[in-house]
Amino acid sequence: MKVLAKLKAEPGIWMSEADVPECGYNDLLIKIKKTAICGTDVHIYKWDEWSQNTIPLGMTVGHEYVGEVAAMGDGVRGFKVGDRVSGEGHITCGHCRNCRAGRRHLCRNTTGVGVNRPGAFAEYLVIPAENAFKLPDNISDDMAAIFDPFGNAVHTALSFDLVGEDVLITGAGPIGIMAAAVARHAGARHVVITDINDYRLELATKMGATRAVNTMSTKLEDVMKELGMTEGFDVGLEMSGVPVAFNQMLKTMNHGGKVALLGIPPGDMAIDWNQVIFKGLVIKGIYGREMFETWYKMAALLQSGLDLSPMITHNFHVDDFQEGFDTMLSGKSGKVILNWD
Ligand code: NAD
Ligand code: ZN
Repeated sequence: MKVLAKLKAEPGIWMSEADVPECGYNDLLIKIKKTAICGTDVHIYKWDEWSQNTIPLGMTVGHEYVGEVAAMGDGVRGFKVGDRVSGEGHITCGHCRNCRAGRRHLCRNTTGVGVNRPGAFAEYLVIPAENAFKLPDNISDDMAAIFDPFGNAVHTALSFDLVGEDVLITGAGPIGIMAAAVARHAGARHVVITDINDYRLELATKMGATRAVNTMSTKLEDVMKELGMTEGFDVGLEMSGVPVAFNQMLKTMNHGGKVALLGIPPGDMAIDWNQVIFKGLVIKGIYGREMFETWYKMAALLQSGLDLSPMITHNFHVDDFQEGFDTMLSGKSGKVILNWD
């Protein structure tokens, strides 16, 4: 079968051939229809330090997808051939304390589809059936293909009560923009998002942000004044991984504010701890999606009218994958879909 894999220890992704993966007793074999390119795939493409230490050469990458069940192991219940599914890319161990308590997103032995085991940029993917999510019919293939990053946005945004609150999101990447849309849909008052990329800030405005602020040219404090915010943000969602953005967030939070951290900083990150201590801030780290509460909420948000369709800015056939990666690398995109049909 056709796959996109990391074949060489240098920047790039290559199309090659691999055997159709074997479907075990508790597994689903999924025929992939559409995939989306994640920021992680871009890191792997660029062959940065994290990728060099993590990705074995030859690895089929990708973990954002929608497909159809093509076959299943004898132990599988609750699915049938032809079911339309996406899937949770974090494969958990099932025997650690958190797994056994039903807190699978906190499993200490998580492995990643398209990172530590063969991924979804392939004609066929195998995952444990318990990681698959059956999709309601009224959710489009394009939307289903981005459930993984949408889930990061939902998990982060819904970590704290947003109703009537003023929310700051730092980083208008695809996940930050989707979080803005979710916060608005969930009943936040002001949703202010920052970035240094005007293309993305414009997309964020389309997706419901009250104000999209380029912090290179505009002071966040001035925007807060314009909005009549006299005290500070109630909820902060850090989605850039950029230390200066996080420090700016800490400075503009109200006392008692709540902060969820999704963005991954490049290394050690110094912050002004006095902001945390004297303001009594609550800070929560976020990894992945809750299994499977986040997945049910994603489906429900779309079914209750959340429109994420402007997020998908580009569609390519998988044979044109290079164009897809170039588009992601340009920074002038929302989500980029690769078609496998
Ligand atoms: P992305 O790289 O597309 O978005 C990050 C955005 O931050 C970019 O648009 C960039 O221009 C912006 N940015 C740069 N400097 C800034 C500044 N000074 N102020 C504000 N914004 C600035 O990434 P994404 O795919 O949207 O993911 C968001 C973050 O979440 C990334 O750091 C990613 O690594 C991380 N992530 C974490 C998890 C997890 O489970 N914790 C999962 C997925 C992604
Ligand atoms: Zn576990």
